[in-house]
This record gives sequence, structure tokens and C-alpha cells, in this order.
Amino acid sequence: MAIKVLAIAEQKDGKLSNVSFELISVAKKVGGELMTACLAESADGIAGELASHGGGKVLAVSGPALKYYNDESYARVISGLIEKYQPQLVVGPATFYGKALLARLAAMNDGAMASDITGIKADGDVVTVTRPAYGGNVIVDLSQNDGGKIFFITVRPKVFEESGDGDGEVVTETVDVSATSSRSTVKEMITEVGTSVNLNEADIIVAAGRGIRGPENLELIRKLADSLGAALGASRAIVDAEWIEYRHQVGQTGKTVNPKLYFAVGISGAIQHLVGMQTSKTIVAINRDKDAPIFNIASFGIIGDLFEVVPALTAKFEANK
Ligand SMILES: Cc1cc2nc3c(=O)[nH]c(=O)nc-3n(C[C@H](O)[C@H](O)[C@H](O)COP(=O)(O)OP(=O)(O)OC[C@H]3O[C@@H](n4cnc5c(N)ncnc54)[C@H](O)[C@@H]3O)c2cc1C
Repeated sequence: MAIKVLAIAEQKDGKLSNVSFELISVAKKVGGELMTACLAESADGIAGELASHGGGKVLAVSGPALKYYNDESYARVISGLIEKYQPQLVVGPATFYGKALLARLAAMNDGAMASDITGIKADGDVVTVTRPAYGGNVIVDLSQNDGGKIFFITVRPKVFEESGDGDGEVVTETVDVSATSSRSTVKEMITEVGTSVNLNEADIIVAAGRGIRGPENLELIRKLADSLGAALGASRAIVDAEWIEYRHQVGQTGKTVNPKLYFAVGISGAIQHLVGMQTSKTIVAINRDKDAPIFNIASFGIIGDLFEVVPALTAKFEANK
């Protein structure tokens, strides 16, 4: 029997997040019958985009209450779709919103849940996913053995390729969104100043640690980031010291990132930092201590004083812009 997969697309301001196309790739790896749910104030346009990227049957739900992500209303609308279309596997993004939504959906639908997956395969209708566990120290394979339960998974962004062109059809769903009213209302979303490059979506990240000595030296790191068009990351040490805001923190209690290129500048490489960035494709570490643990996972290591190395690199990158 072909497995039915429901992918949950993510949009912000009516624009699809890149991870939505990665979810389609994940669903295709499983095979079977693919559906993609798309919720927005006016979903038809972005539903068409998903369909043209191979999103299968794209279920478009529109309504003013869906303009902004809201746990309760989104979960109720999607639960309605689950009841109607009976998927065995529901795939969402391991983003700020996706993690909350899929956990809520799993609880509401008495399902099984695996979060932050980095691999997936299917044998018939048995789906096996790969995910890091115990703070990233162990990589485990999990299978959904209880055939009666729906399997809910969140997918780590930037691990899978985005789906290219493909076939699909848009199905406009008429859901009475007002009947799914929530106890909370999101009235407005305000974009934080200075978040031009989002850590989760960035291809390049330059991250700073306690080696920079003080907040006044962040400018040095920011210049290196700007020369590469990179997002700015940070270790918890400098977030706790209030040199930079929490939204920049990478690691166990911060963001998990997976860019093509990650610069760790003056970061020792504590395990809690590594679990948030060790799957980056290329890691460049700059540290004056040759025994710093960060060098164990670095693709390239520069042993030296960051106050000399960083300006020299910035000048080179600026010159090559
Ligand atoms: C429950 C828990 C959760 C945690 N979560 C996180 C998390 O999410 N993210 C996170 O990052 N940490 C986290 N931590 C903290 C973590 O254990 C480390 O304390 C932290 O990552 C250290 O940050 P750091 O590498 O910037 O500082 P340090 O460990 O102090 O390292 C500074 C580095 O800079 C180098 N250096 C100094 N001067 C220079 C120079 N002039 N040039 C070049 N190099 C220089 C030093 O050699 C050193 O290696 C967590 C800890 C716990 C217990």
C-alpha cells in the first residue's frame, strides 16, 4: 500500500521559506502519495509555487486568521486536513514554528514524533529516520513500528536539497478558520532590526566566541561577516556576557545551523557549541590555542591571534568582492 505523506509548508509574510521545498524532497524520498499543506492569509499563489516544485496535491487554506503563524489555529486546521486525508507520515520543518506545531499536532492526533531529523528512508510503509540524540553525541535511527499511529517528523533545515521543478495540483480547501479560533491572537509581526541575514537560512556564518575579549571587538567580526555576506553567530559565553543578543547563539541551547561555510572565531569548541554547528559543510576555526577542541572538527584551522588573522582575511575578501 502506498504511504500517504503530508508535508507542511512554512511561509512568512506570504513568502515561502526555502525549507518548504526541502520538505518536498524529504517526502519524495519516502515515495508514496504526496500532499502539501499550505496555510496563509491568501494561500493560492504560494500553493501554485509548491505545486510547480512537485508538491503533489497542494492543500491551500486561506483566511485572515492564518496571516501569522499561531500554534492553536494552525494545529486545528492541519488536524482537520489530517482527519480528511489520513496521512501516515506528516513532515514539517525543524524551525522555531515547525518544532512547536509538529509537537502539538502529534499530541492532538495521538501520533509518534521524531524531531530534527537529518536522514530518512522507507521500506514499504515502514519509515526510518536518522536524528542526533544526547546532545549530538549519538546518531540514532528510529522506526515507527506502531502501524496505527501517524508518524510526525521535523526536518533539520539545509540538510536536504530543495526540490526542483515537478508536478502538482492546487486543491483549495474551504475550512471555516473562524471555528478554529485560538485563545491567543497574533496582531502584528515586527522584524528585528539587523536580522538581514537569518542564521537558519544563511549559507555562510561567522561566529564569535569569548576570544574576542569584549563587545567593542564585535565590530571586527561583523566586518568579516559583511565581507562574505554572512550571518553573525555567537557562542553562549558571549551571549551570557551580554555582548550580543541571544538570537545569534549557536548550540545546544541556541540555534542549530547547517551552512556551507562556518567560521568559528575565538571559540574553544565545547560540545554544547559543536552540536549546533558540526554538520556545517566546511568549518574554519581561528584560535590561538593549537589544542582547542574546535580543531578536531575543523576542515581548516588557523592557529593564530584573531586580532591579526581576522582583519587580514577581511581585507582579502573585500578585495575579491
Ligand atoms: C546546559 C548547557 C548548555 C549550553 N549551551 C550552549 C550553546 O548553546 N552554545 C554555546 O556556544 N555554548 C553553550 N554552553 C556553554 C559551553 O559549555 C561553553 O562554555 C561555551 O561554548 C564557551 O564559549 P567560547 O568557546 O566562546 O568560550 P571559551 O571556551 O572561553 O573559548 C574561548 C576561546 O578563544 C580562544 N582565544 C582567546 N583569545 C584569542 C585570540 N586573541 N585569538 C584567537 N583565539 C583566542 C581561546 O584559546 C579559547 O579557545 C552550554 C553549557 C551548558 C552547561
